[in-house]
Parts: sequence; structure tokens; C-alpha cells
Amino acid sequence: MICAVCGREGRGFCWVSPKRGPRTPDGKRMFKRFCSMQCQSLHARRLKAGGGVVIDPTHNEKVAMEAVLPHLGEYVASLGMDKPLSAYSREEILQMVDVVLTAYFDNLRELTPDDVPF
Ligand SMILES: [Zn+2]
Repeated sequence: MICAVCGREGRGFCWVSPKRGPRTPDGKRMFKRFCSMQCQSLHARRLKAGGGVVIDPTHNEKVAMEAVLPHLGEYVASLGMDKPLSAYSREEILQMVDVVLTAYFDNLRELTPDDVPF
């Protein structure tokens, strides 16, 4: 299962809805898996804030998305601003994905310093 927050591979961190909490359409308790304590904590804070289990981007996630743009622009510029996306090699696309994901999660973690690092 993938992380319910960030979509990375889930790793042993999870959440199960309380006995009287939200249920799946077939009546079972809801189950979420997470990649890290950071994502598990983000999910818990959203629930406490009344966000329910539907996950919309939080303020920090939106800020982290914006923070990706300079990194993405720098990478695209390094390949050539006039080079169309259709001309990118597989390796260039994979590197671009890495640039975006790394910048996003680095920024998101900086914005949530009270999370327990591990
Ligand atoms: Zn995650």
C-alpha cells in the first residue's frame, strides 16, 4: 500500500478509524498506511483540525508546491528552455521527477519542524 499522504511506499506506519469513527462504504473501519511518522502526524493533525479523511492539500503542502517551482525552473533551464518536453529522454524525465519530489518533500519537512525526525 502507498502512503495516504504523499503517495510514497507505505512502511509500517498506519491509522485505523475508531470503532465509532468513519467507515468504508462496505462498513469496515478505515485503514491508512504511511511512509513515515511525518506523514502519519500530518494525517493526525488534519483529523484533529476537522479535515476528515478526505485529503486536500494543507497550507504547508501548497507552500511546498510553490517552493518546487525555482528548482523545476533551474532544472528545465539546465536542459535548455527551448527544448520541448517531448524531446526529453527517459533519464531527463526521471531526473525532473526526482528534482520535483525532493524539493517538495524537503520544503514540506522544513515547514513542519515539530515532527519527530528519524
Ligand atoms: Zn508519506
